[in-house]
Amino acid sequence: MKRISLMNQIFIAFGLAVLFGVIFGPSMTIVEPLGDLFLRLIQFVIAPLVLASLIVGVTSLGSGKQMLRLGGKTVAFFLLTSFVAVGIGLSMGYLYQPGTNVEIAEPTTEEAEEEVDELDESIVDILINIVPENPFAGLAQTEMLQIIFFALALGVGILLVGEKAEPVKKFFDGLAEVMFKVTSGIMMVAPLGVFGILAPVVGEYGLEVLLPLIMVIVAVATGCLLHIFAVYASIVKLLGKISPIKFLKGMSPAFLFAFSSASSAATLPLSMKNAQENVGVSKSTSSFVLPFGATINMDGTALYNGVAVVFIAQFYSESLSALDIVTVMLVATLAAIGTAGVPGAGLIMLTITLAAVGLPLEGIALVAAIDRILDMMRTATNILGDSACAVYIDRSEHKDKAFQDEAA
Ligand code: ASP
Repeated sequence: MKRISLMNQIFIAFGLAVLFGVIFGPSMTIVEPLGDLFLRLIQFVIAPLVLASLIVGVTSLGSGKQMLRLGGKTVAFFLLTSFVAVGIGLSMGYLYQPGTNVEIAEPTTEEAEEEVDELDESIVDILINIVPENPFAGLAQTEMLQIIFFALALGVGILLVGEKAEPVKKFFDGLAEVMFKVTSGIMMVAPLGVFGILAPVVGEYGLEVLLPLIMVIVAVATGCLLHIFAVYASIVKLLGKISPIKFLKGMSPAFLFAFSSASSAATLPLSMKNAQENVGVSKSTSSFVLPFGATINMDGTALYNGVAVVFIAQFYSESLSALDIVTVMLVATLAAIGTAGVPGAGLIMLTITLAAVGLPLEGIALVAAIDRILDMMRTATNILGDSACAVYIDRSEHKDKAFQDEAA
């Protein structure tokens, strides 16, 4: 019998999860341990995978100067696309008016406090925290920004030392290869993971939770689709010179996994695999851009901030001035950068944007009930944004490169 490809297995698992969730409802929590187990498997590769692959990414650039150029280009791309995403989110908010005629009770301050409890950091704290006091503690806690900082520092150090650092470089090269192999092994059970994560989520959400806020869901969904099909498709086509269909098809397993898991960080190993094997992005570019992107580039989250701000303003009958809109665009872009690639992080970071324009923080309790659904959409968008950037960077760095679809 012909083996079903991993991509198709993930599609099938996704379809079955939705089907089982709808048919069996909340009792599907029974398969949750399967999902949890898979997430643990992924989490245990992330720290060494990111460290080693990012070091390989930096050292393969050849010089610190080149790293600065590439890093600058990457960050500029992330900022610009996130900024556009907030704009799309705001537009969707005004188009769908999700906060008018909503039949839900005003949340109390306590309800909101329950949600924001975890946010005790300001943007300045987040920035300071990038520098690890102890890089090994950062690795042990899977603090992604700290791991990135450590990897970049080591990579540049290796480049500057040159000859004498060859064994260190070789070690991380080898470690990166080993981690890719381990990841490939784990990916063989990804379909089971998708089923275990998604079926309980589908089973738990009833229409009674979703319906009152259906316009918020529609606004975020339309915005994400627009961002994917207009912004990313144009980027990969015009700047990356590859077919958007090839790109979307190639990244679809990672997309579905991000949608199911609502975690960019957990999706990273699969994004790297898909970008390299299906889209043809070079190892050096994907090793550099994707871990970085999975940590700081969150277009879906930025877009969601835009929709949520308009929704909450409408719900409380507050109007936003032109200055408020500009503030939202800037602050939401930064808040998205500071959002960790884990489930629910975007909801907490939304308080930063709300506070910037003086909207009631209780507003987040309004969207909390449907956050998982919104998180799935924003995470899937987030990871596509990272790989669209990788396609663009790869093309701009290797102008003569023949991508898979051209070679085919
Ligand atoms: N869950 C999202 C991610 O991992 C972040 C968010 O909550 O917006 O990309």
